[in-house]
Amino acid sequence: MSDDAPTRFAPPTSPAGAPFWEASRERRLVLPWCDGCARPHWYPREVCPHCLAPDVSWRPSDGRGTIYAASVMPKPAMPMMASLVPYVVVLVDLDDGVRLMSNVIGCEPRAASVGRRVRAAWEPLEDGRHLLVFELDD
Ligand SMILES: [Zn+2]
Repeated sequence: MSDDAPTRFAPPTSPAGAPFWEASRERRLVLPWCDGCARPHWYPREVCPHCLAPDVSWRPSDGRGTIYAASVMPKPAMPMMASLVPYVVVLVDLDDGVRLMSNVIGCEPRAASVGRRVRAAWEPLEDGRHLLVFELDD
């Protein structure tokens, strides 16, 4: 395997998630906010999960949050991820008010522990989009 072989599958897209992926091309994080109840939600979907309103606006996020849960993966989930192990899967509570699953990069895996502050980082995908990952921020 060469050093630049892909280590990720390109994530599938949906119409509801298209604005997120388009912004990722410029390494900008945007989140869906409900126009009805003015609350953010994750993941992107056709209606607000809080009030079922069908109108969503996309707002920028500064990408900062706190690790809610973390798990160090000693084996790759897929063979193409073998060069990444050990890696950290986390649930991050963004300051905006949503929780999402991602990875923390750029640190000793066990340093990415519950309660640590993180900020958004971006991992390039082959098609010009970027995958949202996180770095420690404290
Ligand atoms: Zn709502």
